[in-house]
Amino acid sequence: AVEVHGVHKWYGGHRVLDGVDLTVRPGEVTAVLGPSGSGKSTLLRVINHLEKPEIGYVSVNGEPIGVRRHGDRLRELSERAILAQRSRIGFVFQNFNLFPHLTVLDNVAAAPVATGRLSRPAARELAHELLDRVGLADKATAYPRQLSGGQQQRVAIARALALRPGVILFDEPTSALDPELVGEVLAVIRNLATSGTTLVIVTHEVGFAREVADRVVFIDGGRIVEQGSPAEVLDSPRHERTRDFLSKVL
Ligand code: ATP
Ligand code: MG
Repeated sequence: AVEVHGVHKWYGGHRVLDGVDLTVRPGEVTAVLGPSGSGKSTLLRVINHLEKPEIGYVSVNGEPIGVRRHGDRLRELSERAILAQRSRIGFVFQNFNLFPHLTVLDNVAAAPVATGRLSRPAARELAHELLDRVGLADKATAYPRQLSGGQQQRVAIARALALRPGVILFDEPTSALDPELVGEVLAVIRNLATSGTTLVIVTHEVGFAREVADRVVFIDGGRIVEQGSPAEVLDSPRHERTRDFLSKVL
């Protein structure tokens, strides 16, 4: 489970997250919706401690991320310990962020080797399996620049899976793609969703959220305005701001 406990995050005087509490149960798929600038990316970045909250903390499977409780205070973990924790939280970015100088296979195999979890041959074997799973078995020796955006994003998903993360965070995984490439990426995510992987997906694809999410969370102004089943939040939103947002994106 991912638990966000009373998180506040601000930059200078600007509050970006303003008291966020969120629980994502194991195997649950949570879609996060909200207007631009509402704090969605910041929330994901706080979950894997790329951003450090001013108040509050996140735990994944009961383990606080980036901090250790010390009496009633929180102490920052070492950089090394944070990196180890972060390697158990998959992150898929809008712009793929593949290593341009590595083949597709090595992009997927790199992290398990670098973190000492698998030998190079074992990591490559796993990478072949994962590429097969995302429909790219035939692209193992290609370089990222030789792939379409949709293919690159599927490699990024295989790369996230290679560390067998407890949760995968997606930040608008299809918003940089040409419309005709969106479907192939959503199909891979849909497949993960039905296989019981815990997912948190920031997306503007309301139809997709309705279809795959167990829970939809609507954020505005750094706060969770409402959350519930897709039917509750998308079909009968209780808050004016949610209705207003949905009327603009639907
Ligand atoms: P979008 O839908 O456009 O991606 P978002 O909901 O992901 O928006 P965030 O990227 O989380 O929004 O940003 C929330 C607010 O925090 C914005 O007002 C943004 O300008 C501000 N912000 C984000 N990162 C920083 C930073 N490093 N320094 C200062 N302000 C920041
Ligand atoms: Mg964002």
